[in-house]
Amino acid sequence: MKTDAVLAIVSGFAGSGKGSVMKGLMKKYPEEYFLSVSKTTRDPRPGEENGREYYFVSDKEFEESIEKDMLLEYAGYVGHYYGTPREPVEEALSKGKNVLLEIEIQGALKVKEKFPDAVLLFLSPPSAEELKNRLIGRGTEDAETVKKRLKRASEEAVGIDQYDYLVINDDLEDCIEEVHSILNAERRKTIRQTALVQELIKETGRFSEGE
Ligand code: 5GP
Repeated sequence: MKTDAVLAIVSGFAGSGKGSVMKGLMKKYPEEYFLSVSKTTRDPRPGEENGREYYFVSDKEFEESIEKDMLLEYAGYVGHYYGTPREPVEEALSKGKNVLLEIEIQGALKVKEKFPDAVLLFLSPPSAEELKNRLIGRGTEDAETVKKRLKRASEEAVGIDQYDYLVINDDLEDCIEEVHSILNAERRKTIRQTALVQELIKETGRFSEGE
């Protein structure tokens, strides 16, 4: 019996390891999850591929996507646009896959408005110090960008209480399993299994009629 798939929004500070958690979920449970690939106007980092981490597009192309209502949500982040293509998300949900949106807080709140059943998870490293070390240590951004991202982290921290879950990413494997079990539990909520509930009522109703 089909249960309603979960639309999961995962946010986290830059350096929280949310990208690795998303990739880990996709690798371990490819049948259960669909990871949305966003459009962005920022440049690719070394090792990133167009169509895999992001669709890297021009400002003009991004603005066209907005005008044509092709994005579920979009937001500005440290000088660039980021947005979620609508169609792939709707298609995956209709196929019963849990959809993962790895997006920042403004976008998360917009999606929650449109889809009140969406589940919001916030990922954090064990401490602010660890966050700073990870961001500097990965060496993919210049000092100025790191500074802007740390400032953004302090703005994001005050929004954490708008999320349903706060998950600490200390050990990657543990974190992947923790997110997976949260989403499994969400999927078992009766509100997401209305068809099965109705069927059980109908079937057991036959017993009281003496069948
Ligand atoms: P990064 O440049 O580090 O890949 O991403 C910067 C921020 O943008 C991250 O917090 C990431 O979660 C967020 N982000 C990525 N894609 C989207 C999107 O489609 N919409 C929104 N609102 N944020 C996004």
